[in-house]
Amino acid sequence: MSAIPPGSWLGLLGGGQLGRMFCMAAQSLGYRVAVLDPAADGPAASVADRHIHADYLDAAGLARLAALASAATTEFENVPAAALEFLSTSARVTPSAASVAIAQDRISEKTFLSGHGFAVGPYAILRSADEAARADPSLAPGIVKSARLGYDGKGQVRVAAAAEVAAAYARMGGAPCVLERYVDLACEVSVIVARDDSGAAVTWPLAENRHRDGILDVSIAPARVDPALARAAREVAIGVANALDYRGVLCVEMFVSRAGELTVNEMAPRPHNSGHYTIDACATSQFEQQARVLAGLPLGDTVQHTPAVMVNLLGDVWFDGSGAAAPRDPDWARVLAHPLAKLHLYGKHEARRGRKMGHVTCLGATLADAIATARAVKRELGIPGADELA
Ligand code: ADP
Ligand code: MG
Repeated sequence: MSAIPPGSWLGLLGGGQLGRMFCMAAQSLGYRVAVLDPAADGPAASVADRHIHADYLDAAGLARLAALASAATTEFENVPAAALEFLSTSARVTPSAASVAIAQDRISEKTFLSGHGFAVGPYAILRSADEAARADPSLAPGIVKSARLGYDGKGQVRVAAAAEVAAAYARMGGAPCVLERYVDLACEVSVIVARDDSGAAVTWPLAENRHRDGILDVSIAPARVDPALARAAREVAIGVANALDYRGVLCVEMFVSRAGELTVNEMAPRPHNSGHYTIDACATSQFEQQARVLAGLPLGDTVQHTPAVMVNLLGDVWFDGSGAAAPRDPDWARVLAHPLAKLHLYGKHEARRGRKMGHVTCLGATLADAIATARAVKRELGIPGADELA
């Protein structure tokens, strides 16, 4: 394809914070962005050049998007694959509906990964109450995860023994699930990979991810893992992108077990929360890269120029510390007083517990400096776990 030049329109399905940061990066390159989002005033719609307020499967809305933009991408992995397929009849779509469909469903994702020889932890597919009742005892203790629509630890039930699997499966409403054996984790890492039409692929340095209540809390980059393991992880991510013939930005989440084993946990067919550090710490952010691949521009360099720790800001920050039942604005002045703390707020009007409202990327001359600032920011905002951050 010939590149879509700056000044042209790009289309986006979905209007959350990932879409907002995509808009900003694309606009910075000179593009105009049209966002199709069913929500009235989401984080992306408020910065987009045009908001098409329609459902993902609304044919008229999709047609308006395609009339405006010759290329479209997605920020929401649960956007119906049918919407991407429909768009692809008249516009360039990256990633493809087929890639998104694989990542949308844990069963097809695991089947795809293991079928292509990538290491995944032991698991079983549960499609019926009977299969749940006869679950392999060697997969306990484990986690039952709904195959579709899970995020931030939702749609997951832990099981201590195989006898609990049937009840866990029933709690998911009998929808297809996977049962995974619980991995004894040394750490969790993720690799963001970008791949273009020519098959060229680049990765960013690994992020070391800490979760709290199933939600990403902190990403430390570069991850403090053995350099050989980091190289292997980046190769796995490129291998996954190649196997998918992927176009765009893909996140591959991985587990590192205490035994030093690297396995793929899951993937997201879009930029990822654990890659937000790339905005402030790398030559090219994951969002700029998403725009570059979509527009058919050459890939930007992914080099990390500054050590970074990203701290997520959940809605809890609006409640805690004041003791009040009603949310109140956190004391941003304290965050902004750190000259290397970069505040990103997503413009969400209502703070709710567990809702991603923003993030702070703490930079430092050394990773130790970045960690020290992240610890201070956590403490000042009342985010739990400041002392454990080391
Ligand atoms: P999602 O990110 O879609 O909510 P994940 O499968 O990534 O779902 O699970 C969320 C988190 O739960 C993981 O990042 C990890 O901390 C923990 N977790 C999930 N599966 C396992 C497992 N098999 N072993 C150990 N921890 C797990
Ligand atoms: Mg995950």
